[in-house]
Amino acid sequence: MKILSDYSLDELYNILADYKKFRAKQIFDSIIQGKDYNETNLPKSMIDNLKSEYILKPIEIFKVLISKDGTKKYLLKLHDNNLIECVFLKQNYGNTICMSTQVGCRMGCKFCASTQNGLIRNLTPGEMLSTISIVNADNGKCTDRNFTNIVLMGSGEPFDNYDNVVKWLELITDENGFNVSERNISLSTCGLVDKIYEFAELKYNITLCISLHATDDETRKMIMPIANRYTIQEIIKALKYYISKNNRRVVFEYCLIKDTNDSFEDVKKLSVLTKGLNCHINVICLNPNGGSLKATTKKEAYAFVNKLNELGVSATLRRSQGNDIEGACGMLRAKTLKGNA
Ligand code: SAH
Repeated sequence: MKILSDYSLDELYNILADYKKFRAKQIFDSIIQGKDYNETNLPKSMIDNLKSEYILKPIEIFKVLISKDGTKKYLLKLHDNNLIECVFLKQNYGNTICMSTQVGCRMGCKFCASTQNGLIRNLTPGEMLSTISIVNADNGKCTDRNFTNIVLMGSGEPFDNYDNVVKWLELITDENGFNVSERNISLSTCGLVDKIYEFAELKYNITLCISLHATDDETRKMIMPIANRYTIQEIIKALKYYISKNNRRVVFEYCLIKDTNDSFEDVKKLSVLTKGLNCHINVICLNPNGGSLKATTKKEAYAFVNKLNELGVSATLRRSQGNDIEGACGMLRAKTLKGNA
């Protein structure tokens, strides 16, 4: 079966050339509004024809957890019964949707629950678009846009699903659809250097975020297997190239792990690494997922950030939302698969 949301409006015009022209736009609108066939005004004969070949709504809401702070965590079921996560964060400056790019992940980062069962499969561009449609429709009128920002910080490594993510960027920024401004999209990668260079050429005005999590390669290798392939210096060089092409500030994510990457020595090394680079550091407290890694205390985390600021490094401690509902990457899915949710 093919998925209709995988196609741009122009592609739908071609696929549906046998029907009246406005039908393609009607289907495109239904995709954006998160509707299935029975919720559209399409003629029954057309629905019957399309249904045998195409899925209109590839995702259903399987479960929603609502946090005390208003954060909503969605477990979504794909048409092949795979589960993915998505988080809706209520914020004063506009709501943010945090979405997945893969079912599972093969990057193997020690602190991250998404990767515990490896990679199951990539999400298609349409499945990623429909994630947004379905969560959007659940948070207001389906004909309105009920969010401002999108962050690709859910399960999966976006640059390990490069072509589909780039096609999704085309769909989500389409003025006929959600028309999300590139500036309101953040893509987080564990640092696939070759893809950073490739992506730089596309000149998207999105915010590129890098999961750094260590200040030297040896420590990074202990928590992120990708560090065996690319060094921190190679990442920094690629980011300089990216910034030279896009003139956009990059963001480092730095998850504090007790006695691993949270010393004042690390503060100094971070300030050296980022010297002269147009960047910001988002410091995060580890959300422990049952492994051997422990979180740095809130107090120590504030001290870490203050020291960075004293050395002239732009850094903030990211407010953590939804801790009471398995807010971190892949936790809810992992629990559900184990039968504990
Ligand atoms: N694969 C991409 C995007 C997904 S992870 C990447 O590596 O960037 C996005 C971010 O989620 C990571 O940078 C990390 O900061 C955060 N994260 C994952 N597991 C976490 C945990 N247990 N506690 C805190 N943050 C976590």
